[in-house]
Amino acid sequence: MLKQIKGLHHMTSIASDAAENNAFFTQALGLRRVKKTVNFDAPEVYHLYYGDEVGSPGSVMTYFPFQNAARGSKGTGEVGETVFSVPEGSLGFWADRLATFDAANMAEVDHFGEKRLRFDNPDGEGFALAEVRDDARPGWTGNGVSEDHAIRGFHAATMRLQDTGAMGELLGFMGYDKVDTMDGVTRFAVQEGTGANTIDLAAMPDAKRAQQGAGSVHHIAFAVEDRAAQLEVRKALLDTGYQVTPVIDRDYFWAIYFRTPGGVLFEVATNEPGFDRDEDRATLGETLRLPTQHEHLRPFLEQHLQPLEG
Ligand code: ZN
Repeated sequence: MLKQIKGLHHMTSIASDAAENNAFFTQALGLRRVKKTVNFDAPEVYHLYYGDEVGSPGSVMTYFPFQNAARGSKGTGEVGETVFSVPEGSLGFWADRLATFDAANMAEVDHFGEKRLRFDNPDGEGFALAEVRDDARPGWTGNGVSEDHAIRGFHAATMRLQDTGAMGELLGFMGYDKVDTMDGVTRFAVQEGTGANTIDLAAMPDAKRAQQGAGSVHHIAFAVEDRAAQLEVRKALLDTGYQVTPVIDRDYFWAIYFRTPGGVLFEVATNEPGFDRDEDRATLGETLRLPTQHEHLRPFLEQHLQPLEG
């Protein structure tokens, strides 16, 4: 069993409009945009990162906004709900706030004894805020959400699967323990993680397979401390029979990817070097950053990428 995985690193999803996506995550949810760059494999498309003050691993929601992308259809083989951690007693504030931003499908629910507020983002992607006790991570308060309410990072993610058996085994191999079950959902948790330590597996044997599009999670990334730990994880996965990519330099972390049983794309990303490697913390995310291989496209991209507030 691996010991190197430290919970979630980031989640990456598809959006249909960069400005709308930027406004929702910075203004409605009050997160900090910690990086404005492009999709390294499709540089005419933004890659936007939202998180806490520095984009700590376990706090970073990232987007590929493909303008006017068709909406995906929900189903199995995908992450169905991404859950942020908020302070106890803050859900009333969030319900009022999200209503003013026209968040759809809002509902307060109890999930494994946690109070949650579910909602969809403008592309119909499923999120929840969960009141979590004893989460010491500081929230970002720079966008007008006070420390009493601010999101501290991810708490959990729910994967929807036709059959959860193989995924449960994989999570066990990755260092997660099965901790609870409720209404067809099995809860796994990793010790000593980034704070985003929980994964729920929802069994949906009769549901059809998800079709990826706007509002879909593209991949879920798990955190490892450094490149040495990443290579250990990569070797262990290869030895177990997974097809794992080589290590890819994403400028702010190193990444490996592999497809899991049930279809969800996993990434394992390093906590080094971080989002402040190429800009000052005080102005993180404000200007367009380009990887070296795309720097020659800057004049074109600055003219053609949609302007964003903030
Ligand atoms: Zn990623």
